Amino acid sequence: MNKKEDEFMKILVTGGAGFIGSHTCVELLNSEYDVVVVDNLSNSSEVSLDRVKEITGKDLKFYKADLLDCDTLDKIFLKEHIETVIHFAGLKSVNESVDKPLEYYNNNITGTINLCACMKKYGVKNIIFSSSATVYGEPAVLPITEQCPKGTPTNPYGMTKWMIEEILKDIQLSDNSWNVIILRYFNPIGAHESGLIGEDPKGIPNNLLPYITQVAIGKRDYLNIYGNDYDTPDGTCIRDYIHVVDLARGHVMAINKLKENCGFKIYNLGTGKGYSVMEVLHTFEKVCGRKLPYKIAGRRKGDVMASYADASLAKKELGWEAIYDLEKMCQDAWNWQKKNPSGYQ
Ligand code: NAD
Ligand code: UDP
Repeated sequence: MNKKEDEFMKILVTGGAGFIGSHTCVELLNSEYDVVVVDNLSNSSEVSLDRVKEITGKDLKFYKADLLDCDTLDKIFLKEHIETVIHFAGLKSVNESVDKPLEYYNNNITGTINLCACMKKYGVKNIIFSSSATVYGEPAVLPITEQCPKGTPTNPYGMTKWMIEEILKDIQLSDNSWNVIILRYFNPIGAHESGLIGEDPKGIPNNLLPYITQVAIGKRDYLNIYGNDYDTPDGTCIRDYIHVVDLARGHVMAINKLKENCGFKIYNLGTGKGYSVMEVLHTFEKVCGRKLPYKIAGRRKGDVMASYADASLAKKELGWEAIYDLEKMCQDAWNWQKKNPSGYQ
């Protein structure tokens, strides 16, 4: 299709300077989309976008703006003639959300409502939303299909995902010319293979892979493994880790689905394979070439024992499938960490 004729071509990426957003910007630019990023840089650096440009050799537009600032958002929509929105912007720390529920509900939910109100005003009715496997709570079935009932997230962060899904569903129900795709991510890890962009957590990482890479680089003394007394083969929790580049590609495939006027859709994005904390640690050790110190700590409150996807619906309806394995995820995460020991600083 001629670029100018394609009404889905100009993509607003909220939170585009962040971990998943920056990788998605690369895939969008490589697929010839025009990219406009809105990010308040509360958990990211503009350097990531310079790196996106370096990787792709293409330009994008960046607004340092907050979704809570309706006036600025309105001006951006007025100026940019956005056609489709990929909505990553949000606060994402489970622990922090327990301490700061108001901040999380306000930022994530009010931010989304402001965004959707602006979309409505300017007739933009295509949105892809970053949800999470956390909405399944303790999963009723494994592997988890999209039919698996939503559970009760154990923290305000998870609740914001749960609620935003419902808000978007109601918006689409009220006006069926909206197309809404909810992508429920499993555990995104890894980095772009160039080592130019990757995950850059502020402070002490909450998530497993960034913690392991910081132990490997000497920033942390040892990994705490949260529980080895679960009912799993080695006693540690099982998750479905997915390479961030695979995840990013999933968003480009989802845009193609929006083009079919798909209405309201939900897809799991995972590999379908579960790995234990111990297996991830050992795979990372293989990649970095040495043993890493760890201690067994108590279980972490709110952790589910096992979570892995049935990702067959995304394969069937989006033509998307994860292609990278755990070793590649660890290699790319390690490459990024070695090249950027202090992240984007
Ligand atoms: P990230 O923190 O790296 O990216 C989020 C971006 O949103 C950041 O750049 C931040 O500065 C920006 N932001 C936050 N609030 C904003 C606001 N009010 N206005 C403008 N910008 C704002 O996180 P990520 O890992 O790239 O995650 C992206 C999305 O995917 C998030 O919604 C997250 O909840 C969701 N998600 C992430 C994971 C994961 O493990 N990384 C898993 C499931 C879902
Ligand atoms: N985990 C761990 N030590 C850490 C961080 C995480 O043992 O320092 C475990 C955690 O208990 C879970 C798995 O690693 O079983 C994945 O945790 P993460 O926070 O990365 O993802 P999520 O809990 O959101 O699935």
